[in-house]
Amino acid sequence: MDYGKHFSAKETPQSEKIPGSKQVPNSAGGFAFAVDDWTRLDRWLLLGSEGGSYYASERTLTKENAEAVLRCIQADGPKAVFRIMEISDSGRAPKNDPAIFALAMAAGLGDAKTKTAALYALPKVCRIGTHLFHFAQAVQGFRGWGRGLRTAIGMWYLDRKPENLATQLAKYQQRDGWSHRDLLRLSHPKSKDPEINSLLRWVVGKEAELKQPIVAGFVLAQASVELEPKEAAKIVLDYSLPRECVPTEWLKHREVWEALLADMPMTAMIRNLGNMSKVGLLVPGSDASRKVCRELADKDRLKKTRVHPVAILMAERTYASGHGLRGSGEWQAVPQVIDALDDAFYAAFGNVEPTGKRWMLGLDVSGSMGSPVAGTAMSCCEGATALALVTAHTEQDYLVGRFNIGYETCPFSKKTRLDDALKYTRSINGGGTDCSLPMLAALQNNLKFDVFVVLTDSETWAGQIHPVQALRKYRDKTGIPAKLIVVGMVSNGFTIADPDDAGMMDVVGFDTAVPQLMADFSRQ
Ligand code: CA
Repeated sequence: MDYGKHFSAKETPQSEKIPGSKQVPNSAGGFAFAVDDWTRLDRWLLLGSEGGSYYASERTLTKENAEAVLRCIQADGPKAVFRIMEISDSGRAPKNDPAIFALAMAAGLGDAKTKTAALYALPKVCRIGTHLFHFAQAVQGFRGWGRGLRTAIGMWYLDRKPENLATQLAKYQQRDGWSHRDLLRLSHPKSKDPEINSLLRWVVGKEAELKQPIVAGFVLAQASVELEPKEAAKIVLDYSLPRECVPTEWLKHREVWEALLADMPMTAMIRNLGNMSKVGLLVPGSDASRKVCRELADKDRLKKTRVHPVAILMAERTYASGHGLRGSGEWQAVPQVIDALDDAFYAAFGNVEPTGKRWMLGLDVSGSMGSPVAGTAMSCCEGATALALVTAHTEQDYLVGRFNIGYETCPFSKKTRLDDALKYTRSINGGGTDCSLPMLAALQNNLKFDVFVVLTDSETWAGQIHPVQALRKYRDKTGIPAKLIVVGMVSNGFTIADPDDAGMMDVVGFDTAVPQLMADFSRQ
C-alpha cells in the first residue's frame, strides 16, 4: 500500500491543503497562501477594489481591504501612514482614491501619533483640489471636524505660491459635494501674503482683485459662453487656460482644442486624444499629430509628469478602437499616435536594465480573470497581458504562455503592439484555473527558465499539484534554482507563492516599481 499517493507534501491536489503548510482556502474552492496585512495594504493601495472582483462584490472586497488597513493602522499607525504616503506620492498606483481613503482612516481611527502623521501627510497624498475634496468626504466617516483637521486643511491652501493656489482654485472647483468654498468656511485660513488672501476671498464670493491669469481667464471665459471659435481660442491662449476652466460649449470647436493643446498637461492630452480626433484636430499628417507624438516620445517629460502606464494603456485601448467608452461619437485614429502610446507605455515604467535571465511569463486566462481591473474597462487578463509584455520588452530571453486548465504558448514578440495583444487575450478568457501549468509545461517540454512569473488572482483549484510543489519539482529535476514571482491582479488576500520560501515573491500588478523589483529579485 502506497499511502504517499494520498497524502504527500510534494504532490497535493490544489483542492487540498499542502500537509504542514500555512495554506488557507481561497474563494475558488482551492487552497493558497494568505498574504499578510501589509501586503494586502499594498495591494489595495495599488489596485483598489472599485467594481469588486469575480468572487466578491465591491462592498465585500472594500470591507475586507479596509479591515486589513485598519489592522495595519492599529499595529503601527505611523508606518501605515508612511506607506500610504510613499505609494501615493511616488505615483506608483494607477489611482489615488485608495490612498486618500486609507489616509482618512488613519486621520480618524489612529492613535494621537498616527493622526498627527496622517495630517502631516495630507498635502503629499492630496496633491490637487479633487484629492482634497475626496479626503474631506472620506474623513467625515471616521471623525468630526476638530481643530487639528481644520488647521491641516487651512495649511493645504496657505502652503502654496499664489500661482499654484490660483490653479487649484480655478481648475478643481468641486467634487463629491465639496467645494473650496465649503472647506474655506470650515478652516478660515489667513495668509500674510495679500495675493493669497485675495484669491481666498474670490473663492468665497467676496470682492477681490484678480491678478492671476488663470483666475482672470476663467472668469472671462465663463462670462463669454457665446463666442466665435476663433475668439474663444484666443482667450484660451492669452490666459493659458486648461480644459477645466473652459465652458463646455467651447469644446465643440477645433480651434479651441488647438489652443488648449498648446499648453496641455500630459495626462489631459492622453485622455483627450479621441476628443481631439473627433473635432478634426488630431488627424493623419496634422501638426497636432506631430506634436502629440513628439510629446509622448519625451521620456523626461513622461517621468516628470508621472503619467501612470495604466492611463496610457487605457488611452491606447480606447483611442485605437476609434470610439469612446460611452459610444459618444467616433473618430479615425492616427496610427502614429497609437505607436507613440505603445512606446510611452513602456517608458512610463522607467528604464530597467535587462537581467539576461531566462523568463517564463504565465498569463492566467481563466474565467475569473475576465473581471475588470479595478476602476477600468479592461479585464484582469488584458492587464496581465500588458504587464507580461513589459518584461518581454526589456529582456532578450522570454516566453509568454497562457493557461487555464490547459497551457499554450502566446505568439507575442517585442514588436507585438499592445492593442493587438489585448485583443488576443480579450477573446480567449474562460475555463478553470491551474496555476501550476507554467512550471509543469516547462518540465514536460524540458525548457530552461530562471524565473517563472505568474500573473493571476491566485484563485487556483483545478490542478493535481500545487504551484509551489510544481516549482520545487522543477528545481529538483533541472537543478536550476528557479524563482517564482506572483503578480497579483486583484486586491484579494491570496497568493500561490509560499511566503516562507525566499525564492518566491509577491508583487502587485500595475505598480510602476514592479519591473525594477522583479529584475532585482531575479539577480539576487
Ligand atoms: Ca480563475
